[in-house]
Amino acid sequence: MSAQLDVLELAKALIRRVSVTPEDAGCQELIGEMLQQLGFVTEQINAYGVHNLWAWRGVDPASPAAAGTPHLMFAGHTDVVPAGPVEAWSSPPFAPTIKDGMLFGRGAADMKSSLAAMLCAVTEFVAAQPKHQGTLSFLITSDEEGEAIHGTRHAIVELARRGIRPAYCVVGEPSSS
Ligand SMILES: [Zn+2]
Repeated sequence: MSAQLDVLELAKALIRRVSVTPEDAGCQELIGEMLQQLGFVTEQINAYGVHNLWAWRGVDPASPAAAGTPHLMFAGHTDVVPAGPVEAWSSPPFAPTIKDGMLFGRGAADMKSSLAAMLCAVTEFVAAQPKHQGTLSFLITSDEEGEAIHGTRHAIVELARRGIRPAYCVVGEPSSS
């Protein structure tokens, strides 16, 4: 199976989950299981019904050994904005559809395809570098499109309390200028 097929199938699997903000609808369970298989330690840092998945691999970012080793975080969200009137869509919003070489569905752009790309990239990287230096991590929330108070903001405060501070962060947002 090619990596390209993997990323498309994974994006479709996420789009099928009706994760209208602040619902996660099982997206993080799917992502968390994939990360566990790659050797990540996973934890839910949930608050007020918001699902926040924290996962890391390599050097424990809360340990003294983390000082001076690189820490790259992938950040993103599983929630989507409400789909609005179904009749306004050319295909059902939660039935991923390929048309003219493009993937359509709520969250295809913002940002389930980004999550799928991150996971496929990390899968390939870990296969090539199983004993990589430093720390790889994911911080995924289900509260970005709504109030966005109990999502990344909440989790990053908890991580900071543990002394965890990533040096680099890749954010999968398509919509930021
Ligand atoms: Zn977004």
